[in-house]
Amino acid sequence: MFGPPMPEEPANAKAVPIPPSRPDGTEAPSDREIFGPPAPRMLPDKRSSAPRPATMPLEEAACRTRLKVLGVEFEEFAPQSDVEGCALPFALKLQRLSRQIDIEPDAIINCATAEASARFAANIIAPAAKAEFGDELTVVGQASAYVCRPRNGTRKLSEHAFGNALDIARFTLAKGTAVDVEPAPPEKNAKFLGVVRKAACGPFKTVLGPGSDADHAQHFHFDLAPRRNGGTFCQ
Ligand SMILES: [Zn+2]
Repeated sequence: MFGPPMPEEPANAKAVPIPPSRPDGTEAPSDREIFGPPAPRMLPDKRSSAPRPATMPLEEAACRTRLKVLGVEFEEFAPQSDVEGCALPFALKLQRLSRQIDIEPDAIINCATAEASARFAANIIAPAAKAEFGDELTVVGQASAYVCRPRNGTRKLSEHAFGNALDIARFTLAKGTAVDVEPAPPEKNAKFLGVVRKAACGPFKTVLGPGSDADHAQHFHFDLAPRRNGGTFCQ
């Protein structure tokens, strides 16, 4: 006896584990389909499979020229990628945000995020430190830049997996004051941190920090995630 016709399904549906959703329609690398480890830990992004051009795209070169004008110190860094779909084809090692402002430790990051961070430090963080503490911003303490990992609690790749995000945990001023990103900072610090966080929404497309969720209790997460209509997500 034959039952009703089965709904159409790919011939390999039983042979290959398929992630529950692949919203951008990208295909997993073929070696994964042939030899495939269990299910991939992370879902690829359209940036995951974009071929790396042999020569540096004009926009990447122009970005580097702008960094030099801003006084940013950086070096070219080896391209980063991973079978999981992480990709940072034109990586930089960011060493200083400006002549006055260091970043510690050096950050492996893409040029767009380096530029956004340098402009933000010079135009927003430094003036906010001056206004609130009467002191100069000297160091931005970063907690994470390029890291090949999913977003916490999901299988979607983090913006960190593309070098498109920077986590900041501490701001250090010339006279030695250290302002940590934390859930209940002293009042003066809270005011400064609040100004910085609010102003980050726009220059960065995602802004998270203490109160957003448990993962962001000790740092600000700033990224340049591409969003429809150029929107922002600031929480
Ligand atoms: Zn982050």
